Amino acid sequence: MGYLCAVKDCGHNSIKHQGEYRFFRFPGIKTKQGEAIRQLCIERRRVWLARIFRSDLNEKSIENTRVCSDHFVKGEPAHLKSTTDPDWAPSLNLGHNNVKEKHVETATERYDRVQDRDVKKRKLEAEDEAARIAAEAARIEAERVEAEQNNASDVPMDIDPKTMDQQCQTDIT
Ligand SMILES: [Zn+2]
Repeated sequence: MGYLCAVKDCGHNSIKHQGEYRFFRFPGIKTKQGEAIRQLCIERRRVWLARIFRSDLNEKSIENTRVCSDHFVKGEPAHLKSTTDPDWAPSLNLGHNNVKEKHVETATERYDRVQDRDVKKRKLEAEDEAARIAAEAARIEAERVEAEQNNASDVPMDIDPKTMDQQCQTDIT
């Protein structure tokens, strides 16, 4: 069975143009590598469909649809995670000039944001933990100082009351 390239007005088909062009399936949706990968797959498929103006394709018809190598800079799609690669989605000879790099950037940014969010979340959790430990250490230190001062107050102090007042004021400001 031959395939007609899904790109409008391309007309390349896998029988007539065998060996001349390669024909690629739409990006599959990987479901077993975590939510970030699944979302990236969905986004990539969405960008492919938007690029070739084929939002009419559904899950079933996509299975029997191919995009030919004529629409990729390097003649084939880039790896899923290479979101900044121009070949992350078809970009050439699409029969229109509406390819906006923004599409790729949006997908990339979204992917980065998911990664960033995880990193930031872990960082915040670590910071919370560090702050909690610091607060606990400060509390213990304060108790220790207070205990020392209590002990010290048993000892007669040889400090001029005026100086003490100044010290108190200094502490307050
Ligand atoms: Zn084509």
